[in-house]
Amino acid sequence: MLGAGITGLWQAHELAYRGHAVHLVERTVTPFSNTASQLAGAMLAPYCEREGAEPIVQELGVRGLDIWKRTCPAVVSNGTLVVAQPRDRGDRLRFALRTEGHRLIGGTQLAELEPDLGGRFGEGLFYSSEAHVEPGHAMAFLLKRIRRLGGEVSFGGTSAGAESDYTIDCSGLVARKDLRSLRGVRGERVVVQTREINLRRTVRLLHPRFPLYVVPWGAGMYVLGATVLETEDAGPVTLRSALDLLGAAYALHPAFGEARVVGLEAGVRPAFPDNLPRIELRDRRIFVNGLYRHGFLLAPVLAEMVADYLEHGATSDRLFVDGAAGMAL
Ligand SMILES: Cc1cc2nc3c(=O)[nH]c(=O)nc-3n(C[C@H](O)[C@H](O)[C@H](O)COP(=O)(O)OP(=O)(O)OC[C@H]3O[C@@H](n4cnc5c(N)ncnc54)[C@H](O)[C@@H]3O)c2cc1C
Repeated sequence: MLGAGITGLWQAHELAYRGHAVHLVERTVTPFSNTASQLAGAMLAPYCEREGAEPIVQELGVRGLDIWKRTCPAVVSNGTLVVAQPRDRGDRLRFALRTEGHRLIGGTQLAELEPDLGGRFGEGLFYSSEAHVEPGHAMAFLLKRIRRLGGEVSFGGTSAGAESDYTIDCSGLVARKDLRSLRGVRGERVVVQTREINLRRTVRLLHPRFPLYVVPWGAGMYVLGATVLETEDAGPVTLRSALDLLGAAYALHPAFGEARVVGLEAGVRPAFPDNLPRIELRDRRIFVNGLYRHGFLLAPVLAEMVADYLEHGATSDRLFVDGAAGMAL
């Protein structure tokens, strides 16, 4: 198995859990460096993400969320709160119409959920079942579990060895040499630290020009994200993006003005043209890729699909593609 990003970790975990012999090889020497995964928000938000995604993302995402909650104690299950300034009420109404799994709450209830936002927003949408993880903690948890389940994980290599029955390639954007239509979509985020504000759950601020999410990692750390730009440039965060992200956080709560900026980071999400993931079968090589904005959300479900395929053969899921014929199975 190649690649210890979130996709490869979940694949290895699922197969080791089912009692298969697993060897996961990661090319970087240091765990979780230089991956899209380390830069994720990592919201587990199947309902909110539906606003800009196909129905299948919600359908599989609900399953993914459930698997995370059952498996990983580090999941923070406090839901998502979506708010908008009064002048952007139309955006809030549109968001509500395009998504499920929420209820409209008034100012009093909003203040009970997030006291720091009390008085700032008269209403909001509350997605009570959604969750998030801190990506580094979640990946470290999976790595430990894989090893405890008897799986082998090595860093600093690029080959799974010739003796494997199957190679599951989860190498992210690197796999574009084999998967021609794979592309990269740049995402930038800012990590800030402040004790001035205490949010318990992911908050999304709707804005016609720049929607923002704020994910609380605990100990006063917050991730502000994220841009979605059609470029594979993984270079440093631009001044414009930093201004947009920080300005939106300031609009959510002026106390963010006093926060320390501890990280300005950019990564590239692997994506196919339809922004949906794919499981591509090529003889004894299986590519799992293109998780786009939903790698954390969907990786556990794709891992189950691949394990079911390896154990039972046939598959009817539309995410499977016959690599030789280049068509859905
Ligand atoms: C700013 C940002 C915010 C995001 N927010 C969210 C979010 O809130 N929720 C969510 O679900 N998703 C989110 N995502 C998307 C998510 O991060 C990606 O979908 C996911 O990380 C893709 O994971 P991956 O394992 O497929 O690829 P990667 O994370 O890129 O991992 C691939 C791994 O393969 C390794 N590799 C490459 N070639 C080889 C080789 N030959 N041999 C061995 N190893 C190899 C690489 O070193 C790397 O470690 C976000 C992404 C970004 C950039």
